[in-house]
Amino acid sequence: MKIVYSVVAPIYNELENLPELYRRVKAVMDSNGEAWELVLVDDGSTDGSTEKIRELAQNDSRVRPVIFARNFGHQIAITAGWDYARGDAIVIIDADLQDPPEVILDLAKKWKEGYEVVYAVRAEREGESWFKKFTASMFYRIIYRITDVKIPVDTGDFRLMDRKVVDVLKQMRERHRFPRGMSAWVGFRQVGVEYKRAVRFAGETKYPLNKMLLLALNAITSFSYFPLQVATYFGFVSAGLAILAIPVVIYLRMEGSPQFTGQATTLIAVLFLGGVQLISLGILGEYIGRLYDEAKGRPLYIVREAPKEE
Ligand code: UDP
Ligand code: MG
Repeated sequence: MKIVYSVVAPIYNELENLPELYRRVKAVMDSNGEAWELVLVDDGSTDGSTEKIRELAQNDSRVRPVIFARNFGHQIAITAGWDYARGDAIVIIDADLQDPPEVILDLAKKWKEGYEVVYAVRAEREGESWFKKFTASMFYRIIYRITDVKIPVDTGDFRLMDRKVVDVLKQMRERHRFPRGMSAWVGFRQVGVEYKRAVRFAGETKYPLNKMLLLALNAITSFSYFPLQVATYFGFVSAGLAILAIPVVIYLRMEGSPQFTGQATTLIAVLFLGGVQLISLGILGEYIGRLYDEAKGRPLYIVREAPKEE
């Protein structure tokens, strides 16, 4: 039977969530009536999720396990989902049930109306700390301002995409990736659907602050040269100030003003400019490192067990 919906969930140590995820996805997708599959991408779990995924797949052939050789990260797991999904519509969903599977039907409705990317917008976030909400909100807004693509705010990876879109995304093999930016970049007819983000069903977040910062860095460097340009702006501003200062200093020296004999001013200027230069070098380094990673051309992920083709 032709598969209409591929539901893709990245899994990193989600043992307690897996049975509930399967149960709810199955209930929702069965009620919908069209053929579906559930692609579970195991991103190097160490808590027994791998065995659980195999077990689910054994009992239901609609569950397709893709098992990584190690942890490659959420974004790469989503990419593998795109690669292995066979449906006409591909839905990316978190495994912790923060994205309620029932919302898939709302997304599907918009897809049937002809939209090719239907992203779920977090109208409300339940049970998350104000710190997470605040940093997430800042994250979306900063990204929106400085990247060249208009990435919808308050939108995660939970979305439905048409086969056409996913076929384009599959060709984009960049290493440091930001899937929600990529899916905005491709264009097509896009629409948002609001939903209430639930609390994690079980377990802990796999996104500590350092991973969030890395994600933000990927988002910015993948879609913007802004950090590189900042160095140029700084250069112009400080050079401009220096040029303005020359006649002022000459004038004051001729007047015999005593303030211009100390070293403190010089020291501050040297330290400030030294700092700016080091930061600029660091930013250059970020981009060069990314270029180097791309140049190596390694595979994005390594699969230990791929789903059986039928
Ligand atoms: N995840 C993954 N690899 C990782 C980290 C997370 O596949 O290295 C998965 C995780 O299992 C979950 C989804 O990505 O299905 C979102 O992670 P999480 O719920 O921890 O993030 P949060 O909702 O707290 O931002
Ligand atoms: Mg979560």
